[in-house]
Amino acid sequence: MAAKSLQELFVEELRDAYDGENRLTKALPKMARAAEHPELRTAFTDHLRETERQITRLEQVFRSVGEKPRGKKCEGIVGIVEEGNSAMEELEGAVLDAALIAGAQRVEHYEIAAYGTLAYFAGLLGNDQAKDLLGQTLDEEKAADRKLNDIAKSRVNRDALMSAGIDEMAEANEMPRRGNRATGTSRNGARRSGTKTARRSRTSSRGRRR
Ligand code: FE
Ligand code: ZN
Ligand code: FE
Repeated sequence: MAAKSLQELFVEELRDAYDGENRLTKALPKMARAAEHPELRTAFTDHLRETERQITRLEQVFRSVGEKPRGKKCEGIVGIVEEGNSAMEELEGAVLDAALIAGAQRVEHYEIAAYGTLAYFAGLLGNDQAKDLLGQTLDEEKAADRKLNDIAKSRVNRDALMSAGIDEMAEANEMPRRGNRATGTSRNGARRSGTKTARRSRTSSRGRRR
């Protein structure tokens, strides 16, 4: 980053946000497909539509400073999306939902930081139009974060806890764990509820989801 003025830094940060949002329009549909809870699915598809509007807003902001909309690789979003991809490979069910929410909330907090700074910079630079547009997106990111919090606390995390709890209870009571009878796997094997390795044998019949 070779920004020499706040104006240039503002444009650099805009490019970072523009790249991040564009990456999220590709990640969110995958997250929606992977999510099990209907509410979480809807939250991801709703936020996808919101993200598309946020991209349009960023393009308006670029124009307000006489710049062509252009992205510059946002390493932060790349990293968070990467972690989400790993979760989708390794987990499933309510535990995957809990992991998807954890990742999505990291994204929202990252975006809240980015848009908070951008809106403040716009104000300092006397660009009221940009300040207003960026402020609208900032509010949407905050609302998305709150929505994810609600879904996690009302349903998903409890379900994730339950699916782990069943396994641990079975272990404590020396009962065969779910799936063992069908696969003949030893209950001392590395089998944990919510992980793809624990359930691969049971899910193989319906194929891979990605
Ligand atoms: Fe966004
Ligand atoms: Zn970034
Ligand atoms: Fe967002």
